This record gives sequence, C-alpha cells and structure tokens, in this order.
Amino acid sequence: MKYEVIVVGGGPAGMSAANLLARARRKVLLLDSGSGRNANVDSIHLLVSRDGIAPEEFRSEARRQLEEYPELQTVAGAAVRVSGQEGDFTVEAENGTEYRSSRVLLTTGLADDLPQIEGLEEKWGRSAFLCPYCDGWEVRDRPMSVLVTSPEDLPFAMMMTRWSPKVTVLTGGELDISERDRGILGSLGAAVEERPVAGVTGPGGSMDSVVLDDGGTVPSSAMFLHTRTQQRSDLPRQLGCTLLEDGCVEVDHANKTSVSGVYAAGDMARPVYQPVPIAYVAAAASDGLVAAGFLDADLFGASFQQ
Ligand SMILES: Cc1cc2nc3c(=O)[nH]c(=O)nc-3n(C[C@H](O)[C@H](O)[C@H](O)COP(=O)(O)OP(=O)(O)OC[C@H]3O[C@@H](n4cnc5c(N)ncnc54)[C@H](O)[C@@H]3O)c2cc1C
Repeated sequence: MKYEVIVVGGGPAGMSAANLLARARRKVLLLDSGSGRNANVDSIHLLVSRDGIAPEEFRSEARRQLEEYPELQTVAGAAVRVSGQEGDFTVEAENGTEYRSSRVLLTTGLADDLPQIEGLEEKWGRSAFLCPYCDGWEVRDRPMSVLVTSPEDLPFAMMMTRWSPKVTVLTGGELDISERDRGILGSLGAAVEERPVAGVTGPGGSMDSVVLDDGGTVPSSAMFLHTRTQQRSDLPRQLGCTLLEDGCVEVDHANKTSVSGVYAAGDMARPVYQPVPIAYVAAAASDGLVAAGFLDADLFGASFQQ
C-alpha cells in the first residue's frame, strides 16, 4: 500500500499534523521512535487547558485519540532511511520494513547537547532547564544559576532576576563581561561567578548546588542554560534538505523544505525570517497543523495534474 503522506516523528508537531491529515481523509502513516525533546520533564507547562500535564500522558492521550481515525496507521519505531522524490518516497523503518508515500513530513525534533558538567544530564528537565517561561515559575524565589557562554546569553541571565532575587551568573571564566553589563547585573542583584563549573549536586533530579573546579560551591536549586542543538535524526541530511546556520531545516511559509514533496515542522524547522527557533509544545503543534494544511492543499492540487 502506498500512503499519501508519511509523517516521521510523533511529538506534538507530528501528532497534530497526523490529526489534520487523518480528518482530511488522507492515507497517513505516522512513524515514531517514542521519546521527545522534553521526555525527561515531569510536567509540561504553557499548554493551555493542560498546564502541568506529564509528557507521557500528553502523548498517550493524543495517540488514543488518533487511533479513532481508520485512515491513519501508527507504527512505533525509528525511520532509518529515506529516499525518493515527490510522488514516490520510500521510508525504511529500523525493523527493515519499507513504506512508500507521495509526500514526507519530517517532525523529528532537535536533540540538546549538554555541556560537560558532571551530574547535569541527570538533572536535565528536572532542575536544569532551557526556558524560564516553561519552568521558572516552579523554582521562583529560590537560589538559581544561569550558565552563560556567549554575550547573547547575558540578556537571558539578566531576565532570570525576575524569577529569583538570588541569581548567580556562571561564566566559567570564558566570557568577558563588559563593565556596563556587570553594572546592570549588579543593579539587578545578580552575582557573577567566573570560576569554571565542574558539576551540579543534589539528590536524584533535584539540585542544591553548583560545584566549581576549585571545590567551591554556589547554592542553586535550578540551573538555566541555552544548549547547542542538533537534528535528532539524519533524515533531513539524507534527503538533502537545506539547513540554516543553527542546524534547523529551512522551510518556507508553507513548511516546505528545499526538497520538493518534503515538508518539516516543529522544533527542527524554521523559516529564515523567524530569527530564532521557537521551542514550545503548543507552537510545535501549531506548526504541524500549518504544514499539514498546506500539504493537504498540495496533494489536492496535484490530483488534478495526473
Ligand atoms: C528541558 C525541556 C523542558 C521543556 N518544557 C517545556 C514546557 O514546559 N512547555 C513547552 O511548551 N515546551 C517545553 N519544552 C519544549 C518542547 O519540548 C518542544 O518544543 C517540543 O517537544 C517540540 O515538539 P516536536 O514535535 O517538534 O519535537 P519532539 O517533541 O522532540 O518530538 C519529536 C519526535 O520525533 C521522534 N523521532 C525522532 N527521530 C525519529 C526517527 N528517525 N524516526 C521516527 N521518529 C523519530 C521522537 O521520538 C519524538 O517522538 C521543553 C524542552 C526541554 C528541552
């Protein structure tokens, strides 16, 4: 059987797209390897009406609802290879099964590369976070740290003083902060710590301090940091999709990539005119809907050209 669309990646972007396409009576395959960017977190915030929902509950409820649509098939497992061209793509799953489709929608997300700090991986999503809007409220007013690695991170560090009066800015000694920025940080009540960071400690996923390489410690119930990211899957590269300098797949207003018949949505993709990647569950879901709507119209138009 040939599908009209194969959606690779079943996070909020992929599931929303699959939902629209299934409701539009498209023959859709949703292939998902099962763990999203926020898999570590206890709860998702900023999802209107579902604030605080656990990621697994969010996913299982969405999957249960998607199963109601007979034209949508869901397969658990990673896609490992993709080839072909508009009208005839082949996607190979990790178990060797090959699926064919007219169009491909990639929603495979991004992976965060964490800096080499002992203990940080265990805390990621529990007490070490990316985004204060998502996770700042729960740790408000407690001592917190902000890891800054470039001058662009300084406004982020300054902003964190709105969540806590006890912010320590960790530079690791690798960033020269101008007198002006030091003055602003000082006026906001933030301390600057320039000794290199060796680790973070605390029971389980929680944090109580940052450990410096000379053995000193900084009290910290939470750490915020901007990570480097990379594509979670190799599929955009296999297809030859153009990537932007930050590694996101370049898409146009209709979520089309540079490769005909291949669309991308969610964290992994952005148009050039959107200056930074946007990483929210609701935004990814919305992006998936936009992509699926244009994809459906594309298929409808193509049906008259055959
Ligand atoms: C620590 C942390 C906390 C966050 N907290 C929040 C929050 O509170 N609120 C909020 O709105 N946002 C939050 N986010 C951001 C949010 O997680 C992302 O914006 C969102 O998950 C992006 O959705 P997505 O569908 O694009 O990708 P993802 O959710 O990453 O989903 C991608 C899916 O593709 C699958 N996949 C990858 N490769 C393949 C392959 N080769 N074959 C098949 N499947 C594949 C993965 O298994 C996954 O299921 C947080 C992020 C982090 C890192």
